[in-house]
Amino acid sequence: MQTHPEKFQENVAKALANPQLKIAIRRTTDRAESKRAEAISNFPKFDHARTQGKRIKDHVIENLGYYLTEFERNATANGAVVHWASDAEQARSIVIDICSRQKGRRVTRAKSMLGEEIGLADALDDAEFDRVETDLAEHIIQLAGDPPSHIVWPSMHLTREDVVRLFRKHHRNPTDSEEITELVDSARRELRSKFLTADIGITGANFLLADSGSVCTVTNEGNAELTTTPPVVHIVTAGIEKLVPSMAHAMPLLRLLVRSATGGEITQYTTFHAGPKRQNDLDGPAEFHIVLVDNGRTRMLSQGMSEMLRCIRCGACLNHCVVYKHIGGHAYGGVYPGPMGSVLTPNLDGLERARKLAHACTLNGRCQEVCPVQIPLPKLLRALRASSWEKKYEPPVNRLAVAGFVMLAKRPRLFQLFASVGVLGMRMFGRSGWISSMPLSRGWTANRDLPAPEKSTFLGQYKKFRDGRRPYQN
Ligand code: SF4
Repeated sequence: MQTHPEKFQENVAKALANPQLKIAIRRTTDRAESKRAEAISNFPKFDHARTQGKRIKDHVIENLGYYLTEFERNATANGAVVHWASDAEQARSIVIDICSRQKGRRVTRAKSMLGEEIGLADALDDAEFDRVETDLAEHIIQLAGDPPSHIVWPSMHLTREDVVRLFRKHHRNPTDSEEITELVDSARRELRSKFLTADIGITGANFLLADSGSVCTVTNEGNAELTTTPPVVHIVTAGIEKLVPSMAHAMPLLRLLVRSATGGEITQYTTFHAGPKRQNDLDGPAEFHIVLVDNGRTRMLSQGMSEMLRCIRCGACLNHCVVYKHIGGHAYGGVYPGPMGSVLTPNLDGLERARKLAHACTLNGRCQEVCPVQIPLPKLLRALRASSWEKKYEPPVNRLAVAGFVMLAKRPRLFQLFASVGVLGMRMFGRSGWISSMPLSRGWTANRDLPAPEKSTFLGQYKKFRDGRRPYQN
């Protein structure tokens, strides 16, 4: 997938001009928020579980080399072929190479953000494989030709009416109904024969279990099982941070994942894949490949970003983010949107290209509060801002503004004088307590009004208050 985080501002303007998009996003994120809150109220030890989840992930990250070696040894003993990819290009080429050795051309894929990260869909299309996305939401966006806009609900930006139009246009036997169950049946009819005739199945991994060398996938549709069982070849692509020591460590993380992602108590399908078909198995793949991808993860370890590697891709930080709720996922211009994407994309695509994402945050801390593995996202975003400043990626106008502020902040009298003049100036543009337009403020007022300031500065009001008088009223 082509990324363009450098176009963040243009993308935001487009997103804000689309009222339908905001409705579609709010519908899903508001529901996700309330379902998560309900699930957690029924799980009293949630905070304890979060601390446990953090500890498990931190332990693995601190001992990554050990667990990677253990996983490789046990997966190989199970009959899997383990491949190592240092970057996205190498990962793509390993997968295309394995696929090209097969006779057939049909490839089914279960949803995987790592697959998006390494650009696997485009690579399969360029190599002229018959790529079939099997997750319902991924199927919808494949028909629409869109990239995912959310890491759990990739088609969140589309409405039911959009889906009806797409299914009528592309399905061989579409339904006349607009009922969700009928639409799901239409997708099932379309996909079932493709599942059964696939030559290669590609999945991601929710967890890699080091002590058994097995791969855990979770879905609510059973599409990962249908992607991995009928084809002759199963390929897993997974980031190296997906490791856990054992099943006993995967279980607490699974409990956190489902409650944070969908507000459920258990995911419908949780499957552990441990190697190819064995002698007496009735079905299963003859070849089982696991591609372990670094793609900047070890670099993150050395750049003070190791906490981000705890992420279990639940999407809770997106659902609770005031910025994401307004602009949706595509505006971020990277594979990963929302708060977690604002940290990951600068690390994956380069800080110079993606520096604006680190600024697309109010630092209200909601994302950190809901993160099931306690990732301090605001702290990491502030670190990226500082790094962008130190590397001189910020434009001259920002540097000048900050230098001006620093100069004033060191001179309190001058600061007060500037603040008083500023307040007076701003009040000239106020109408009924709001400013609709004002020179140098289009970035704000183009999309919303700005509250007009009080008659006096904060310090002015404070002095009067301290002297026993009531503060100014507007
Ligand atoms: S950063 Fe935390 S809340 Fe956001 S997707 Fe990752 S695990 Fe979930």
